[in-house]
Amino acid sequence: MSASNHASAFVLPATDADGRKNLVGLSREELEAEMLSVGLEKFRARQLWHWIYHRGSTDFSEMTTLAKPVREKLADAYIVARPTVVTDLKSADGTRKWLLRMPDGQEVESVHIPEEDRGTLCVSSQVGCTLTCRFCHTGTQRLVRNLDASEIVAQVMLARDMLGEWPAPPDGRMLSNIVMMGMGEPLFNYDNVAKALKIVMDGDGISISKRRITLSTSGVVPMMERCGEELNVNLAVSLHAVTDELRDIIMPINRKYPLRDLVEACRTYPGLSNARRITFEYVMLKGVNDTPADARALVKLLEGIPAKINLIPFNEWPGAPYERSTARAIQVFGDIVNNAGYASPVRTPRGEDIMAACGQLKSASLRLTAAERAAIANVIAEKDAALAS
Ligand code: SAH
Ligand code: SF4
Repeated sequence: MSASNHASAFVLPATDADGRKNLVGLSREELEAEMLSVGLEKFRARQLWHWIYHRGSTDFSEMTTLAKPVREKLADAYIVARPTVVTDLKSADGTRKWLLRMPDGQEVESVHIPEEDRGTLCVSSQVGCTLTCRFCHTGTQRLVRNLDASEIVAQVMLARDMLGEWPAPPDGRMLSNIVMMGMGEPLFNYDNVAKALKIVMDGDGISISKRRITLSTSGVVPMMERCGEELNVNLAVSLHAVTDELRDIIMPINRKYPLRDLVEACRTYPGLSNARRITFEYVMLKGVNDTPADARALVKLLEGIPAKINLIPFNEWPGAPYERSTARAIQVFGDIVNNAGYASPVRTPRGEDIMAACGQLKSASLRLTAAERAAIANVIAEKDAALAS
């Protein structure tokens, strides 16, 4: 099974109940081909692109630069679809979490994290995740499928709808940055993620630059170089352990792509420089990976790689097998890393009260019974067996 096609293949209905096709998620070339296929000129694609991705229009009748008969023809054959918003939760700290339902009934979450004069959207790449990192809630979810490009782009478009940012202001946008850090492993769904990000980066549309996009991977080594070469986005790597012994346990993908290979893929990541560092994410688990010796080993492991180390206090979820490191342990760890010359910011948990913080995303949050705990253990065992095969 190839690294880029790990989740079960699934094709969404590309049309609505009236047989009209969704235009969101098509590349510029595909949009041109669509126009030709209904007897319209190729340049209509450019006009449509502007309305769909710059103005955020979902209604052809608003697209006033197109002649009325053209608008009618488009409305007969096409739609500009959005997912359904099932819930819209707002945290005390301003973080918002949207649970979105796709046309087949599957659900994913996106999280918006506002800051003073900017804001970051955390985007999902899969429904669930085929991996089973032991500290991650998403990993306990049985159902997994890849999102297609339209479903990934639509998360960004929906956030713009909710934030009222069509067209987006040139400065002070509340949706200025994107992190592919929601549900799923983006490099197991590379083709759809790449297609979606190219649409998001397009300067005539949503226009979020590659410098403001970060893709986080658990370490899908064979896809990292291609990601750097083709997309040139910032890379974040979920490291979380400094020995194969521990990483094999807390991140089973390590059994396939061990630390030596992962670190080498980081060292050779295209475009890497002191101005363009890799972010290593390190979740702080009490008594598991948080000693001063771990910190020193981390520094040694990353020697020579332009890097920033993001310390993430573990976020709890129902049934989680770990606890968060103490503030003191996090500080001592951070100081060692910092003294070695690496920036080591501690990621402030955002949106914990609505289960929107890193690693808490899953379609439902619940208090577990013993039977549910056993069911989760089964899911993890099945998924680990699939990874090993
Ligand atoms: N699948 C990708 C991206 C999504 S996870 C990846 O693993 O990199 C985003 C980040 O949150 C990852 O670094 C992940 O390891 C971290 N994370 C997962 N569960 C967490 C938890 N319970 N507390 C804190 N961080 C967590
Ligand atoms: Fe998947 Fe990332 Fe969670 Fe691991 S941390 S289970 S790769 S979403």
